[in-house]
Amino acid sequence: MVSSVSKSKTYWDHSSGEKDPFSVPKSVFRNLADCAHRFENGENGNPPAIKYLWIYVTEEGLERKRAAEDSGPRLSDEDWLNIIDEACSLGAEWMIIYVGARLSECPEVWRMCDWAQQEYEMRVGLHLSGNCLRASELEYLFKLDSERTYVVADEADAAALETLRERGVNVCVANVRKPADAKRCESPEVMACVGIDGELFTCGLVLGVEEYQLGNVQGEPLQKLIKDQSLRHAVSDIPAYRGHDHNCDGCPPHIARRAAESLPE
Ligand code: SF4
Repeated sequence: MVSSVSKSKTYWDHSSGEKDPFSVPKSVFRNLADCAHRFENGENGNPPAIKYLWIYVTEEGLERKRAAEDSGPRLSDEDWLNIIDEACSLGAEWMIIYVGARLSECPEVWRMCDWAQQEYEMRVGLHLSGNCLRASELEYLFKLDSERTYVVADEADAAALETLRERGVNVCVANVRKPADAKRCESPEVMACVGIDGELFTCGLVLGVEEYQLGNVQGEPLQKLIKDQSLRHAVSDIPAYRGHDHNCDGCPPHIARRAAESLPE
C-alpha cells in the first residue's frame, strides 16, 4: 500500500541531530502491514473492516463516563504504534487523536502522527481542547505532513486558531451537534475507538460505557474484536445528538467529510 509511493519529509528528517528510533521496526511493520492490507482489503475483494481510528490519549474522555473508576495502565508509545499498524491493516485511512490536554503534555502524539502519515499515508486530526498552541508545539506541528494534518477544535476556539490556517495548517470544526449532522452519522461499525488504557469502544459517544466496551487491544488483536459480530458495534439505545453533550464531537467520519469539502475543486 505504501512502499511504492514517494514520501515527503518525515518528522525525523526535520529533527536535526535526532535519529528516528523506529526506523527498523517501521520497515518491518510496513512490509507486514502492506501484505495484510492487500490480503484483507484488496485481493479477496472484501471492503475494509474499518475506515477510522479514533484515539483518546488522555484520561479526559474516559473520565466523562467512568469518573469513579480508575482506568488501567496507560498504553506505551510502542503500543500506540502497534494499534495504528493493526488499524491500517484493517483499512483505516483516518486517525483522529483527542488530546484533552496541552500537546506538550502528550509528546507521544507527534510520533503517532508521523508514523501514521509516513508509513500508511493516513490523514490525521489533532482534536484540541483549547485554542492556543505554544511555540514549541507549533514547531512539532509544522514538522508533520501539512497535507495530511488537521487541527480539530471546538467552534468557539476555531476563530482563535484562524492564524494557523494562514500558516498553511488545515483547521476543522469538531462539533457534531446539529440535526443535519445526525443524518450523516456514519455507522460506528467502521470505527475503532480506543481509550488511554487500550479499552476499545464502539465510538466516542459511548466511550467508557460498559455496554459498549468491546474489549482491550492490549489483550486481544484489534482485528478479532472488530470482526466479532457478537459485540455491539452499533449505537442503538443512546440518542446520538444530545444538545448538552459533546461526545460526538470530533467523530472521524464527520471530520473526514468536512476536510474533503474544504479541499479546492
Ligand atoms: S460518535 Fe456520534 S456521530 Fe460518531 S458514530 Fe458515534 S453516534 Fe455516530
